Amino acid sequence: MTAQFDINQVYQQFPALQQNCNGQPLVYLDSAATAQKPLAVIETIQQYYSGHNANVHRGSHSLTASATAKFEQARQTVQQFIHAQHSCEIIWTRGATEALNLIAQTYARQTLQPGDEILVSELEHHANIVPWQIVAEQTGANVVKIPMLPDCTLDMDAFHRLLTDKTKIVAIAHITNVTGTRNPIEAITTAAHHYNAVVVVDGAQGIVHETVDVQTLDADFYVFSGHKLYAPAGIGVLYGKKALLEVMPPWHGGGKMVEKVSFSGTTFSALPGKFEAGTPNVAGSLALATAIEWLESLDRHGAEQHIAQLRQKAIEGISEIDDLRIIGLQEHASLFSFVVDGVHHQDIATLLDQQGIALRAGHHCAHPMLDALGLTGTLRVSLALYNTEQDVERFIAALHKACSLL
Ligand code: PLP
Repeated sequence: MTAQFDINQVYQQFPALQQNCNGQPLVYLDSAATAQKPLAVIETIQQYYSGHNANVHRGSHSLTASATAKFEQARQTVQQFIHAQHSCEIIWTRGATEALNLIAQTYARQTLQPGDEILVSELEHHANIVPWQIVAEQTGANVVKIPMLPDCTLDMDAFHRLLTDKTKIVAIAHITNVTGTRNPIEAITTAAHHYNAVVVVDGAQGIVHETVDVQTLDADFYVFSGHKLYAPAGIGVLYGKKALLEVMPPWHGGGKMVEKVSFSGTTFSALPGKFEAGTPNVAGSLALATAIEWLESLDRHGAEQHIAQLRQKAIEGISEIDDLRIIGLQEHASLFSFVVDGVHHQDIATLLDQQGIALRAGHHCAHPMLDALGLTGTLRVSLALYNTEQDVERFIAALHKACSLL
């Protein structure tokens, strides 16, 4: 049985949080950009390079065999974590961005015809917009925006109206990175599949705060980055349904993704190797598996309740500040965005930084969403399971101080 969530015990696992920033203990409220790493993950990387480093799927010596076994075991850990049917449906990438580009340049480039449509929501991170614009340009397809409502949720009526026989792909975030909006993925996949369109889910934020079951979501593709899930940067995952991955052409060419290379014609490896050209980030894969195991060793429900309480406290503590507006506040989100009318977000962020508070100010790589809101930027508080009540109290006090100075 999992022990009850213990914030003190969890906090101690994160050495990066035990530092001062501008002379004050660091309060890290930027986990949606990247999360800090627990000792278990740091130790996995150290141990890998201290004793297990070898190239994988090459050669026959014992070290390479052992590294290959660990690497493939890590793939199975991810498979189980997202409840994929087969481990070959898990493709290692550098992150969510690379995974989305892979889908665009293989599945979409092969499938799209002039006049076809890719429905992309207005709430997306640029990583889930630009790859579709590039492939639309290459194929003559069109990117069509699914608008959002004033409360920063997806306009589902518009979505249903926009879905037609021309729709081939729907690209949608599981949870958005500006307001924490959770899109109704199950309803979206059901409707899209009715038109034989495939659904690409950007899980960069969703994977962190939900138990993801790709089969229940019925996502055709689901992508995420390790670094937001307490693992290192440079490792990520593309999940795709086996039947789709099997007929997709490879993207990058090179070693390991081939069965036989010849000047008269090259044949490609079976899944997942076909999409993993070159030497992979073995340490990253192992560290991602460790992050998952570490997360699963915790009371995840308790962790989410802890985050929800902190969020509530933060919102209550700042809402009486004059001219402060919380943008599209969502229930159950781990993050929220706000602006203070008449004050530039960057000025507030600078004054917070001087008090040891790290949060994100800017457009959050979501120009279309910010444009729709008529904003050039917001301040974003994103909470993780290692944040404490004291962090939130320090943030509230620092924000009051910053606003009184501006
Ligand atoms: N999608 C969303 C919703 C994100 O929040 C991010 C990163 O902030 C990305 C995609 C891109 O992730 P990465 O830069 O790790 O590839």
